[in-house]
Amino acid sequence: MNLKIVRTIVELRQEIADYRLSKPVNPSVGFVPTMGFLHEGHASLIRQSSASNGLTVLSIFVNPTQFGPGEDLDKYPRDEQRDLRIAADSGADLVFMPSVQEMYPNRRLTTVTVSEVTDRLCGASRPGHFDGVALVVAKLLNIVQPDRAYFGLKDAQQIAVIASMVQDLNIPVEIVPCPIVREPDGLALSSRNVYLEPEERKQALILSQSLSQAAEWIHEGLTSSQLVQRLKDEINRSPLADIDYVDILKYPDLGPIEADKQLSEVDNRVLIAVAVRFGKTRLIDNRLLNPAEVGAQLCFAK
Ligand code: AMP
Repeated sequence: MNLKIVRTIVELRQEIADYRLSKPVNPSVGFVPTMGFLHEGHASLIRQSSASNGLTVLSIFVNPTQFGPGEDLDKYPRDEQRDLRIAADSGADLVFMPSVQEMYPNRRLTTVTVSEVTDRLCGASRPGHFDGVALVVAKLLNIVQPDRAYFGLKDAQQIAVIASMVQDLNIPVEIVPCPIVREPDGLALSSRNVYLEPEERKQALILSQSLSQAAEWIHEGLTSSQLVQRLKDEINRSPLADIDYVDILKYPDLGPIEADKQLSEVDNRVLIAVAVRFGKTRLIDNRLLNPAEVGAQLCFAK
């Protein structure tokens, strides 16, 4: 199927209904929501959807409700033509590119707030961010009604938020977490990487480098608070790094880990997450570990 572009909800629903009718035996719709300026991380989600579903819908929408005042909504990078090429090459069938007016036509009276899993990490440092994410994802899931939706573990907290929302609201979709895609030197791909000045780009490598050592340090018997400190010290060796947070939590509930507990003894998946500013650019990265398999590069696909 050739890539089809739609900009309205009515057209999108019609295309999906046509697909489901044309394939009455086992039709399946995969959905990849994005804010565009696509890169290999997005492409990997599209490919995964396309491998498992008869129809892959990609949305490109820079969602204003998830940006706080003073954040980069106005200068968020966009390149529609390039996005469409990457979408087609990766196996998307349908691209939904709504305007802000199409998504938010009226005065909005409904908020979607997911508690607890939003208390720490980006939920704490970007107030309101996950309300905006939950709202737009709930709307998009209702508009597309996919069988499966694909999200990157680059935004591990976002997956925890959406999985909780989908469960609590009985939204009939399978949430599929996908591994982080990185540059050959380890930097996690992000649309925001284009903001980095050359020297910032070099120093930003400290995030993936320090996270990739975390398993080794856990092996040495470090407690949670010692590992947080070790990571902060390591990141601070880059003079341009301005740490927003370094945190270690259970995953996916994002519950706390006792500060003096040796991480190698935590009987849970552990998320080690960092957010660091380089100049005007705020980068996030993480490592998801199963301490029983310290050393396993669980979500560290290159
Ligand atoms: P965004 O366009 O930044 O909102 O991201 C759209 C989707 O792509 C989200 O599910 C992200 O987690 C995912 N994504 C972004 N960067 C990466 C990456 N480097 N590897 C894997 N998935 C990613």
